[in-house]
Amino acid sequence: MALYEKTASELSELLGKKEISAVELAKDVFARTKAVEDKVQGYVTVTEEAALQQAEAVDKKRAAGEKLSALAGIPIAIKDNICTKGTLTTCASKMLYNFKPPYNATVIEKLTAADAVITGKANMDEFAMGSSCENSAAHPTHNPHGLDRVPGGSSGGSAAVVAAGEAPLALGSDTGGSIRQPASFCGVVGLKPTYGAVSRYGLIAFASSLDQIGPFGRSIEDAAMLLDAVTGHDPLHDSTSVKTPFEGSLRANLNANVKGLKIGLPKEYFGEGISEAVRKNVMAAAEAYKAMGAEVFEISLPLVEYALPIYYILSSAEASSNLARFDGVKYGYRTPNAGDDITELYTKSRSEGFGAEVQRRIMLGTYVLSSGYYDAYYKKARAAQRKIREEFANAFEKCDVILTPVAPTTAYEIGSKTTNPLEMYAGDICTVSVNIAGLPGLVQPCGFDENHMPVGMQLIGPRFGEQTLLNAGLAFEQASGLKNIIAAL
Ligand code: GLN
Repeated sequence: MALYEKTASELSELLGKKEISAVELAKDVFARTKAVEDKVQGYVTVTEEAALQQAEAVDKKRAAGEKLSALAGIPIAIKDNICTKGTLTTCASKMLYNFKPPYNATVIEKLTAADAVITGKANMDEFAMGSSCENSAAHPTHNPHGLDRVPGGSSGGSAAVVAAGEAPLALGSDTGGSIRQPASFCGVVGLKPTYGAVSRYGLIAFASSLDQIGPFGRSIEDAAMLLDAVTGHDPLHDSTSVKTPFEGSLRANLNANVKGLKIGLPKEYFGEGISEAVRKNVMAAAEAYKAMGAEVFEISLPLVEYALPIYYILSSAEASSNLARFDGVKYGYRTPNAGDDITELYTKSRSEGFGAEVQRRIMLGTYVLSSGYYDAYYKKARAAQRKIREEFANAFEKCDVILTPVAPTTAYEIGSKTTNPLEMYAGDICTVSVNIAGLPGLVQPCGFDENHMPVGMQLIGPRFGEQTLLNAGLAFEQASGLKNIIAAL
């Protein structure tokens, strides 16, 4: 087995025992990247030279007998909306085509302190708006399990490079499903943490009240390991971050016993629009849990019907405000066609710098925040958000976790939904409620469809229920053997 085919946990052990070096590992991972990246196109920027230097530094520390973290020497890809000092951070947008941040995101500071090796910046939908990675201004990413298909989005690049063996781990961000849906489409593990569990400092904002950074890996243990490294209260930089009860101890406390675990299956998530392959595989997972001694029963979450309008109103409102900073003046793209008219400079820079989907969201967001429509849309959506929160809180009085599909279908063909934005939005039905309620959601592979495309399942937990989710995920992973799936390519 080549090094790139191993999980981060396995690699961590080999590095710890000095059976392999970080440089050897990085070289193997970049050789794989060179072999497959033409087909996958998961990266916007590959940072091989810097990565090899980081790896060399780790090896020196290890040789000197320093005590190193579990992530020391482990290659990790970073979604291109997370600021990396001195390294291009484009958000897959023409608007930020030349942006080299003067600072690191908190998660990057943490990974650097843990001696992780950053492989590059992963492709995404522009400003994280999209579900297929086709809204990238750089290029689309291809699903490693079927190159004519999308990898999902918006963190499609992060999911694809992990599935293709181009990195054992990656960071993504999730505002309405952007970690979980690509994890599902690419057959890897992805976790959207509880809102506040990971600092958002240096994550280029889409919708600040919904955005969270989270891990991708090819096993539950790997996702736990990466979340352990990046979680934590960041009082200086992100006042919405909090101290969590699990702070860095998720991997150490993994326990696959699900006897007596109460698992709710919300009937509304299995209804019309969910494809047979998805329903069948998620229901089979529910049966597997029963066989392991969990209590599985039907519950009802009727407000899911309102989740999409609530999400698209709130997220677009926040996006229209967050993206106001990109004006062609301070940094990023500036139109060469403005003459000396300042208004023209703003409008042309924004019209030329932002892609169609981003402009659509800004217009939608500006509309729902405008004085004539604020009460009818934005205010109502905020009130409905509270109802959704209550609905989940009530559900968690009856069950420990909720099991659902991740998306109505498996990965679809590139180009098949780009002309119909509403159809694209509809694919987010199973994931957006989790962000609206600020809850954690774990996605992992649970089978394959008739075309051998991966099917994922989603476990939703109460606030700070990450350990319960990962434990339940581990139990299924062990029972199903669906772990460390790498696309053949
Ligand atoms: N697909 C959703 C959207 O387009 C979610 C995006 C995300 O989570 N960043 O808004």
